[in-house]
Amino acid sequence: MSRQYLVAGNWKMNGGRAANAELITGILAGVAANASVEILVCPPSVYIDAVAQQAAGKIKVGGQNLSEQEKPGAFTGEIHGTMLKEVGCQYVLVGHSERRAFYGDADDVVAGKFKAAQSLGLTPILCVGETLQEREAGQTEAVLARQLNAVLDLNGIDSFANSVVAYEPVWAIGTGKTASPQQAQDAHAFIRGQLAAKNAKISNSTRLLYGGSVKADNAVELFSCPDVDGGLIGGASLKAADFLAICAAA
Ligand code: PEP
Repeated sequence: MSRQYLVAGNWKMNGGRAANAELITGILAGVAANASVEILVCPPSVYIDAVAQQAAGKIKVGGQNLSEQEKPGAFTGEIHGTMLKEVGCQYVLVGHSERRAFYGDADDVVAGKFKAAQSLGLTPILCVGETLQEREAGQTEAVLARQLNAVLDLNGIDSFANSVVAYEPVWAIGTGKTASPQQAQDAHAFIRGQLAAKNAKISNSTRLLYGGSVKADNAVELFSCPDVDGGLIGGASLKAADFLAICAAA
């Protein structure tokens, strides 16, 4: 089963009109050279519309978060998936560890957001990963299973036919500490095994991204692991040259 590599940039709460335009111009210049890779950027929501227009379909655009509410309405500050779609999103991150840690996105909330995305035809990128304390306590697989099962229990395995899973060890996000290729492969193999236990075909076709301090100089090794199908990139997605170098490693 060949899975197309996906390299996704999570801009987090960074950027501005001028900086975004410059960044997209820079990435567009390298799109042709990386034609085999699907390239995605996830800007802050207020900029998605402008970024999507400039990207003109050559770079995919996604949201960083969405509301789990079924319908738009009186939910101050929230963004419904239909709105993300209208401004050009095809993907949306759900369960990023910063959302889980700072904004109360517990497993059931993440499962609801995954459902909301799916129901609207947005592809959710489900982020899972353990903290350092959990890893040191030997709980990595238990944490990954718990986070996956919350989504599987609500949505079923068939929903993974149109989804992406990003393994992002919390201790590697924004810290400069990267999982070794072996650690990444072990976690990815575990995630694929969990999905395979329910449906081997869907498991084989689901793209699993690694995220956590991916840089140009470690991307080649990480992306050559058999179960790593690309990356979710934070800090290094904010400079076109760095991001393109990572795309070139895929
Ligand atoms: C992330 O926030 O998803 C991430 C992987 O960040 P960084 O690449 O900066 O570690």
